[in-house]
Amino acid sequence: MLPENEIKRVLTVTAHPDDIDFGSAGTIAGLTDRGVEVTYLLVTDGDAGGNERTLDNGGMAELRRVEQTAAAKHVGVTDLRFLGYSDGTVVQSLDLRRDIARVIRQVRPDVVITHHPERNYQFIAPSHPDHRAVGGSTLDAVYPDARNPYAFPELLRDEGLEAWTVREVWLTSGPTPDHYVDITANVDRKIAALLSHQSQVAHVTGFEESVKGRFLEWGKLAGLPEGGYAEAFQIVPTG
Ligand SMILES: [Zn+2]
Repeated sequence: MLPENEIKRVLTVTAHPDDIDFGSAGTIAGLTDRGVEVTYLLVTDGDAGGNERTLDNGGMAELRRVEQTAAAKHVGVTDLRFLGYSDGTVVQSLDLRRDIARVIRQVRPDVVITHHPERNYQFIAPSHPDHRAVGGSTLDAVYPDARNPYAFPELLRDEGLEAWTVREVWLTSGPTPDHYVDITANVDRKIAALLSHQSQVAHVTGFEESVKGRFLEWGKLAGLPEGGYAEAFQIVPTG
C-alpha cells in the first residue's frame, strides 16, 4: 500500500449522492484532517432515489446535490463534481470512461476510491447496478484511459489534459475487503454526513444505530479495541 505521506490528492467516484457517505466518509474525514485534498465525483444526481414523490425527478436531483454538498462539508470536502447521468440506468460505456478519465486528468489524484464492480453475494444492497457500472468504468478510466496519452486523444488535443497515472484504487463494499481504516474518532462526522441526506434517511427508523452497528462489526474484523469503528476497502495497486 501507498504510505500515508505519499497520498496528497484523492478522487472519489460514486454513482449516487450518499454512496460516499455510507462507504467512506469516516475515512475521508481522516484524510482531510491530514491535509489531503479530496474531490467527489458523482455520476448521477440520485434523481430516482428516496420515497418522497412530491418532487419530480429534476427537483429531486437538485435537492440531492444540495444534500451531498452539505454532507461533504462535515468531512472537509468542498470540491464536488456531478456528471448528471440518469439514476438507475448507468451502464459501462466509453462515454462514461471518457468522462471519468477527464476528471482524473484534471484532479491528478494519487488514490481513487470507487465502488467494487463485482456483485457482493453476502450483502446485496451495495451491488446496485449503477454501482457496479461506475466501479467498472472507473477502473477502466484509471487503467488504461487516464494514463495512456493515446486513449481519448481529444482530452489532450482539445482540453490540454495530460495523461495521469493513479497509483492505487480503493474499492468499497466488495466481497473481499482486505484493508480496514479505523474511523472511531470520526464516526460522528460520518453519521452527520449521512443525516445530511434527509430525503433518503429521514423516514428510516433506527438509522443511526443500524449504520453504527455495521461499522462496529467491521471494527471487530479489523481487530480494533472494543467499541472501535472501521470502514473496509479492497486495495488495488495500479502503479
Ligand atoms: Zn448508490
